[in-house]
Amino acid sequence: MRAYERLLKYVTVRTPSDESSETVPSSACQFDLAHVLVQELKDLGVSDARVDEQCYVYGHIPATPGYEDKTKLGFIAHMDTVSDFCDHDIIPVVTENYDGKDFVLGTSGRTISTETFKHLPDLKGRTLITSDGTTILGADDKAGIAEIMTMIERLNAENIPHGPLSIAFTPDEEIGTGAAHFNVEEFGAEFGYTLDGDTEGEIQFENFNACKAVFEIEGVNVHPGSSKDTMVNASLVAMEINSMLPSGDTPRGTEDYEGFYHLVSMSGEVGHAELNYIVRDHDPAVFEVRQETLRHIEKLINEKWGAGTAKLTITQQYRNMSEVIDGCRHLIENAKKACENAGVTPLVLPIRGGTDGAQLSFKGLPCPNLGTGGHGYHGPYEHITAEGMDLAADITVELVKIYAQ
Ligand SMILES: [Zn+2]
Repeated sequence: MRAYERLLKYVTVRTPSDESSETVPSSACQFDLAHVLVQELKDLGVSDARVDEQCYVYGHIPATPGYEDKTKLGFIAHMDTVSDFCDHDIIPVVTENYDGKDFVLGTSGRTISTETFKHLPDLKGRTLITSDGTTILGADDKAGIAEIMTMIERLNAENIPHGPLSIAFTPDEEIGTGAAHFNVEEFGAEFGYTLDGDTEGEIQFENFNACKAVFEIEGVNVHPGSSKDTMVNASLVAMEINSMLPSGDTPRGTEDYEGFYHLVSMSGEVGHAELNYIVRDHDPAVFEVRQETLRHIEKLINEKWGAGTAKLTITQQYRNMSEVIDGCRHLIENAKKACENAGVTPLVLPIRGGTDGAQLSFKGLPCPNLGTGGHGYHGPYEHITAEGMDLAADITVELVKIYAQ
């Protein structure tokens, strides 16, 4: 079976995770897919496949006799999708021999345009898979699951010798907690790869360092007619704080390895105001400087407007996995070689975000991220090609072969 045929099956099981939920998994529907995947793993000979009570699917493939001492390698993909554009059933649309031009998504009124998606002409002649334009497709990350399943099928069918392999499918990646309850010991691999990137051939091991920064501002509210030299308008202080940040260091103004302060939300009256930022930087030293800048602003504001006017709370979120991966560069070199063996040009790109692999790397499972062939994630323009998925699956097979040498 080709990987995209599996994808078509998985996307019919809707699995949005739920940011507002406090349960694990965040939505019970993720179990629906987990049970399907456990059965499929068993059918593929992964006899110990199981789903735990927190909706993590684990399975192990013992080494080919004589290969027991090879590197223990793992592959991971996530089962949930974003909840946006996922409130009704997903209807995948398969278009053979795509012409590489603007593509109209059913009767939704939406078009995947070559102006927005510059890579579309490169997909000419391939089999394009989209939604009908009213929902996401869910290739993020069900394509990754489909490619891992296809890899297992090929290892069996082609009698490819391999070391010990671990497989996991995780819940709640899209709400940032996919790694939280991941059992590294049960998984049992020395190294892993997540399949959760875009274009086939992508290899990602550098992500942002990330924190949240919240300013709470207490003002002094006095009748505006008699407030000369007494009123402190918290909303105006909030605007002053934002004006003290470098104006170009925003998501709009930065790219590649450049970091930013992103004002996610703000609220304010005279008496109280709040600024919610996320802070991102690839470089750990610059990341520290960004936090120091915020602390310095807090100090200056309190000196100017009175102690207790501004209160800054910084909460760490995730770290750049490159500091872990630097100690095991073979993961990157072998991924590049696997791409070349599969006839795909490797693309080593920094991630302007985080991945579950980053958190897993700091939990003791070094875990770069590989492309799945998908594009336009997290909205109704999401698309992928059958051929891109074949290549992504080929790359995983090549990786298994390299680690069995
Ligand atoms: Zn994903």
